Amino acid sequence: MELYKKGNIFVISAPSGTGKTTLCERLLRVIPDLKMSISHTTRKPRPNERDGIDYFFIEKEEFEKMIANDEFIEWAEVYGNFYGTSKGVISDLMKKEYDILLDIDTKGAKNIKKLYPDSVLIFILPPSLQELERRLLLRNEDKETINRRVSKASQEISQYTFYDYVVINDDIEKAFNDLLCIINAERKRSQRIKSEKIDKIFQK
Ligand code: 5GP
Repeated sequence: MELYKKGNIFVISAPSGTGKTTLCERLLRVIPDLKMSISHTTRKPRPNERDGIDYFFIEKEEFEKMIANDEFIEWAEVYGNFYGTSKGVISDLMKKEYDILLDIDTKGAKNIKKLYPDSVLIFILPPSLQELERRLLLRNEDKETINRRVSKASQEISQYTFYDYVVINDDIEKAFNDLLCIINAERKRSQRIKSEKIDKIFQK
């Protein structure tokens, strides 16, 4: 029997190259009733990305129209592209009683916390900036992109104090296990219990 309320929001932020995408994909595979919030973006899809699965890829004009129509819970400009969490996507997942995983930047995470104080913010750190740079090099990113991402990473890392949890990804298995523990524990908070269910079970 489901004792706990769903519709909980888990936000994961991390500098790019930290292993966040891999970790999120693994969490979605093993945690029941956890779904990813698919963001809208004006960034062009990468070769392996699919519209409606990784992102909703839209043109800048359409994005601006959505801002004007107040269709976003939050949005931000990252590396010259726009990214936003749509109200429709979130309310649909909540209606279906799923928990929601958001992979968004630090600005977006702060906005989500303001709107949903019960949301759980998790920050993933790379073991060091040198290691982050090494991982970005392995991805065959060009030097300029790497420099931009490493310098953005050091700004982002300073934001960790706004998060509820900080996980270091120096070992993917350990980081994955930490995330599992956090989500499982958060789901079992007493404030997330459906009190009517407890009353029904334990009524005298
Ligand atoms: P990428 O282009 O590598 O997929 O994502 C770049 C950055 O944009 C990442 O830090 C990612 O977390 C962030 N991002 C993706 N979707 C959203 C969103 O809807 N809102 C905000 N604020 N950031 C997002």
